[in-house]
Amino acid sequence: MPIARILFPLPLPEPFDYAVPEGLDVQEGAYVAAPLGKYERLGVVQEMLPDSAGDGRKLKFVSELYPTPPMSRPMREFIQWAARYTVSHPGHVLGMALRSRGGLVPSPTETVYSLTGATPARVTEARTKLIDAARELGPQSASVLSEAAGVSSGVVKGLADAGVLRAESIATDLPFESPLADLPGATLTDEQAEAAQALKSAVATRAFETFLLDGVTGSGKTEVYFEAIAEALKTDADAQILVLLPEIALTQAILSRFESRFGAKPAPWHSGLSDKERRRTWREVAHGRARIVIGARSALFLPYRQLKLIIIDEEHDGSYKQEDGVTYHARDMAVMRAKLEEAVVVLASATPALETMVNAESGRYQRLKLSARPGASRLPDVDLVDLRRAPPERNHWLSPHLIHAMQETFAAGEQTLLFLNRRGYAPLVICKSCGERLKTPGTENWLTEHRYTGRLVCHVTGYSIPKPKTCPHCGAADSLMGVGPGVERVAEEVRTLMPEARIEIFSSDTAQGGEATRGIVDRMEQGEIDVLIGTQIVAKGHNFPNLTLVGVVDADSGMKGGDLRAGERTYQLLSQVAGRAGRAERPGRALVQTYAPDNPAMLALADNNRDGFLQIERDVRAELGLPPFGRLAAMILSAPSAQMVDEIALQIVQQAPNGEGIEVFGPAPAPIAVLRGRHRRRFLVKSPKNIDLSAYMAAWIARLKLPNPVRMSVDIDPYSF
Ligand code: ADP
Repeated sequence: MPIARILFPLPLPEPFDYAVPEGLDVQEGAYVAAPLGKYERLGVVQEMLPDSAGDGRKLKFVSELYPTPPMSRPMREFIQWAARYTVSHPGHVLGMALRSRGGLVPSPTETVYSLTGATPARVTEARTKLIDAARELGPQSASVLSEAAGVSSGVVKGLADAGVLRAESIATDLPFESPLADLPGATLTDEQAEAAQALKSAVATRAFETFLLDGVTGSGKTEVYFEAIAEALKTDADAQILVLLPEIALTQAILSRFESRFGAKPAPWHSGLSDKERRRTWREVAHGRARIVIGARSALFLPYRQLKLIIIDEEHDGSYKQEDGVTYHARDMAVMRAKLEEAVVVLASATPALETMVNAESGRYQRLKLSARPGASRLPDVDLVDLRRAPPERNHWLSPHLIHAMQETFAAGEQTLLFLNRRGYAPLVICKSCGERLKTPGTENWLTEHRYTGRLVCHVTGYSIPKPKTCPHCGAADSLMGVGPGVERVAEEVRTLMPEARIEIFSSDTAQGGEATRGIVDRMEQGEIDVLIGTQIVAKGHNFPNLTLVGVVDADSGMKGGDLRAGERTYQLLSQVAGRAGRAERPGRALVQTYAPDNPAMLALADNNRDGFLQIERDVRAELGLPPFGRLAAMILSAPSAQMVDEIALQIVQQAPNGEGIEVFGPAPAPIAVLRGRHRRRFLVKSPKNIDLSAYMAAWIARLKLPNPVRMSVDIDPYSF
C-alpha cells in the first residue's frame, strides 16, 4: 500500500505518514484529509513513499482526497525554504497558503428567484413591493429580495408557490473572466519601450531573472509592466501573473486600470474581501484558472500552479514586511519564489530600497530606468520651508509661506494637498491642571483626540473612550487639552484661513470602505474639493490632474526615535507625496515644512538627488555592517509583567550560542514596548553577510525552555533597527 507523508497547517515538528487506501489516486502535492488526534485535518502530501516505507508500522489511512489539482513542486519547496529562512514551522507557512481552504470544495450553489411573468391571483402590498424589487434587481436570493422590498422572506416563498417567481440554483462563485493579451496599451515613449522590451524578452525565455524598474513617479512604470503581463499571457496559455501592491494602494482606480488594459477584472486578494470572495480567488488560483492576481503581500503565499511573472509595485514600501506570526518580507520572498518557479520578477519603484539598489549595482538585479514623465507632465519642484526662520503662529501649523502658496493655488482654481501623517485632532491629550498625559491603561501609548467622534483613541491597540469631562488623574473639570496637530486640526486651521475653500479630510477614519474612498477620490477628480488634507493613504496610487500644490505639514515626524531606517523611509514617503503634484499639463510644486532643513533626507528632496542620498545612507550602513552589508535578526520576548520579561531576557542571552562574527545586542524595549498587556523586549543579532543567521537563531531557540506566560518570536531581517 503506498504511503503519503502529509504536512498539516499546524506547528508540528514533522510531517506524518499515512497509508493510502485502494482506489484513492493520491499524488505528491495532493490536498487530503486525514485523522490527526481527535480530528480530521486538511493537509498536503509532501512526498509519496514506496510501499516498503511502511515497514510494519501501523498507519492510519488518508480519509479524503480533494478535487483540487495538487500543489506544485516549486510551491512545496517554497514553503520549506520560507519556513527555514524565517525560523518557523513549515506547517505555519502552509497555513498561510491554505488561508481560504473553503476553496477546496466545488463552488457552492445558491437559490435565486426571478419573475416568471405570471401575475398573482391574490395581490397584497407586500407582494407588490417584492415583485417590484424582483423586476428591478433581477435574479436574487430570497434574503436579498425580501430585504430590498422590506418584507418578510415568507413573501418570496408564497410567490414561488403561486408560480410568480421561479427558483433556480446557481453557482455562487464563478471563474474570473480570462484576460486578453492583445488589447492595445499606451503608445510607449522610447525609454518606456526599451524597458518593456527587456521585460518581454525575459518573460519569453521563461528563466528566472530579477529586474528593478526604477522610474520617477508618473513615468509610466505601470504601463511598462502591463506589457510584460501581456507577453506572459501570450507566450504561455497557463501562465499566472501576480501583482503585489501595498494594501492601501489597492484602490478601485488601479483595479479599473487593469480591467481596461486586459478586458477582464483581475482576481483580487486583500484584507477587505469577504470570505466568499476570498474562497473564489483561492479556488481559481489553485486550479490555475485565475491568470492575473492583484493583491497585498499575503497573495504571495497562494498556491499558484504556474507562476511565471511577479510584479512588486512600490517595492520599497514598509508594508511588505509582515510583522506578526511568520514574519517575512514579501519582496525578498518573492525573489526566492520566482527563482524556484523559474519566473521573472519585477520590482518597481521611484524610490527603491537601499537593499534593492545595492543588488542592482552588483548586477544581481537588472536595472531599467525611466527618467521622465511622458508628455507635458513634469516632476514638481520641491522647496523646503525652514520653520526655524518663519514658524507658524502659536497653536497653528501652517507657515506664512505655505499659506500664501495655498491662497495662490486656490485663486488660480487649482487644488492643494496637505499631507500630515497623523489621524484625528491632536496626537496627545494633557491636563492643564496636573500635567498628566493621557495614555492607554497599562501602556506608554498616548491617546489621540478625535473631535468628530468626540473620542480618545489609541492608534496602537484600538482602545477608545469618550473624551472625559474631567481629568481622570486629578479630577479637574474642563482641563484636558489636545497638543500637536492631527489632520482634523489642520483642517480647522485651513477653514479659518480660507473660509470659501471646500475642504475635506482623507484618512482611514473618513475613508472607511471602498465607497467612501471613491467618493473622496471622485470629488477630488471632479474639482469639487479645493484643499484635501490627508494621511499616508493619499500618498499612493492617485492621479489628480488639477492638483498643483502639495504641502507637507510636518516633514520631521517620521525622523524621531532611534530607527536607522527613518531617513530612508521619510525620503521615500515624502517624494511619493510630492509626486502627487503636477500630474497633468499644469506644473506642480511641493513645499516641505521642516525644522531640520540640513538633514540629508530633506536636502535630497529639495535637490531631487535621490542617488546622492542613497550613497550617504549606504556609507552609514556599510560602516556599521548593517543590511544589506550584513545580516540582522531580532528575537522578541513578551510577558505579562516587565519584571518577568526582564528576568527571562537575562537568562536567554546567557544561552546564545557562540558564533564567529555574531554580535547580540540587548535586551532593549521592543519598538512597541507594550502590546495587548504584554511587555516586550528585543534582542538584535548582527552577523556578517556570509553567515547563515537563520540557522544560528534556530540553534539558539532549540536551547531555550520558556516558562509558560513568556512568548518568543524571531524576526529575520527586521524592518526597523
Ligand atoms: P507610474 O506607475 O510610474 O507612477 P503610470 O504608469 O501610472 O506611472 O503613468 C502615469 C500616468 O501617465 C498614467 O495616467 C498613465 O496612463 C500615463 N502614461 C504613462 N505612459 C504613457 C504613455 N506612453 N502615453 C500616454 N500616457 C501615458
